[in-house]
Amino acid sequence: MPLPAITVVTPVFNEEAVLPELLSRLTALFDAHPDCAWHAVLVDDGSRDRTAELVRAAAARDPRFELVELSRNFGFQSALSAGLARAAGADAVVTMDADLQDPPEIIPEFVAAWRGGAEVVRAVRRSRSEKGLRRVGFDIFHALFGKLIDYPIEPNTGTFGLLGRDALATFNSLPEHHRFFPGLRSWIGFPTADVPYDRKERAAGQPQQTFHHLLRYALDGLFSFSRLPLRLLTFTGVIIANAGFAAAIFYAMRRILDLETAPTGYTTLVTLLLFIGGVQLIGIGVLGEYLGRIYDEVKRRPHYIVKPPARGPRA
Ligand code: UDP
Ligand code: MG
Repeated sequence: MPLPAITVVTPVFNEEAVLPELLSRLTALFDAHPDCAWHAVLVDDGSRDRTAELVRAAAARDPRFELVELSRNFGFQSALSAGLARAAGADAVVTMDADLQDPPEIIPEFVAAWRGGAEVVRAVRRSRSEKGLRRVGFDIFHALFGKLIDYPIEPNTGTFGLLGRDALATFNSLPEHHRFFPGLRSWIGFPTADVPYDRKERAAGQPQQTFHHLLRYALDGLFSFSRLPLRLLTFTGVIIANAGFAAAIFYAMRRILDLETAPTGYTTLVTLLLFIGGVQLIGIGVLGEYLGRIYDEVKRRPHYIVKPPARGPRA
């Protein structure tokens, strides 16, 4: 029997500070578990530092490492998709961040769960090392998200985990542009196992996902897995319309019964006008979020573009 082929897929963006440690810990892991045929695909997501160079050098030294270089920065989800596409055909792929917040040493536990029959393995955080605002942001996101989406996602999971051959093929065949990996991974509905772990601090360097990235990611998760915002709009509309109707009857009665005294209502009018105007704008904004996503989907552009090979001057 040939050894199971296991590919580790990791997007890297400006990670020159952690790369040496990442590469050495992966190498140690691979060497310690000769019962699998290991491979690592590092997807350079348009780094502006020496990341691509370091991975290229590692690939030249050790054929188990491979560099996929994107033509520019496409963002984590797209880089991940590029890596998963490259890993097609492996018996299983492990998806993980480059910064060693996800410790590679627990990968053998994923493989054990996969060997036990799971098609999807998710690493579930027992603890998180993020502090301060980032931490609060993550907590709020997970609390809200759990309530909002149509399809529940285990709150303490992220990218870290394993996909078996079938899950990988299914994931690679999903056509959608806005990808929210943890959501899609549960959405495909394959037999799943969870492996608990402690999420570490970044081994070196700075977080590469800016607040803006994370916000966009959160919105992608919400809008691609829920129609609740649309439904809320409808409810809000119904409530406001009813309130307006009730107010109309109330004021008409006052007029008819001659209860009206001095002319009133300037403040009320301004307040209502601003309130309703605001609600309408929010409504248009929410519609816009969906519309924008539809626009991106219908363009059918690829999620990422691999950098063309370097060539010398043309004759
Ligand atoms: N990353 C990427 N493209 C980006 C931003 C980040 O491929 O545009 C990679 C980064 O190199 C790391 C992973 O995504 O491997 C997670 O990034 P980070 O640690 O900055 O995010 P966080 O831990 O805050 O989710
Ligand atoms: Mg990180």
